[in-house]
Amino acid sequence: MRFLILSDIHANWEALEAVLGSVSGHYDRIVCCGDLIGYGPDPNRVVDWVRENVALLVRGNHDKAAVGLDNLEWFNPVARAAAIWTSGELTPQNREYVERLPKGPLAVDSYQIVHGSPLDEDEYLFGAEEAGQAFAYIDRDITFFGHTHLQGGFAMTRRRIWMLTGPAVDDESASLELDTDDAYLINPGAIGQPRDGDPRAAYVLYDPADHCIQYCRQEYDIESVQAKIRRAGLPDVLADRLATGQ
Ligand code: ZN
Repeated sequence: MRFLILSDIHANWEALEAVLGSVSGHYDRIVCCGDLIGYGPDPNRVVDWVRENVALLVRGNHDKAAVGLDNLEWFNPVARAAAIWTSGELTPQNREYVERLPKGPLAVDSYQIVHGSPLDEDEYLFGAEEAGQAFAYIDRDITFFGHTHLQGGFAMTRRRIWMLTGPAVDDESASLELDTDDAYLINPGAIGQPRDGDPRAAYVLYDPADHCIQYCRQEYDIESVQAKIRRAGLPDVLADRLATGQ
């Protein structure tokens, strides 16, 4: 079974569509680590697509915020404005679907998926220290997570934890051979709002039988999304940051 692993789509339809066009035929099932919506201009289009195509997913903090399951006080003003706008846009059916999204961790095949960390769906795993605490509670060899919008993640051998990264800016993909003695926290990166300095949409292909992770990046029509964000009256910074991947 070959998995396409997505995270942090953030209502960016153009990014999602470009990725789906380029990986067509290379996967059997789609998995998502949360944050379908928030920030981007196409919440209903993205949720409609997820409802049809993604059976295995967990909720993210922006999904919760848009349907009133999270306190907006925790959000910065830009994220809060986007959550309020998204809330007003969602159709009743999509709102109900988002409300019912499961909280991670969710077991899938031989691995698991979470939004933030295995201990706390809202925790950010930015560095080796946080990753080390998370590894202590993981009983699966591989966990996929999102939330930071940074493609890569962490690997842990018996005594050492190190950070993983995706392809260089000139490359479209990078492979990580998995060692069966080690444990991994893998971040596929963000589809809809990368923050690792590479504006291309990020995702992962994973086939458990191959013991290999493929980190991928895909260019998409950023200008169209920026125009939609501005037309919707969402904060300008949400359009600007897409061009720099920050
Ligand atoms: Zn996110």
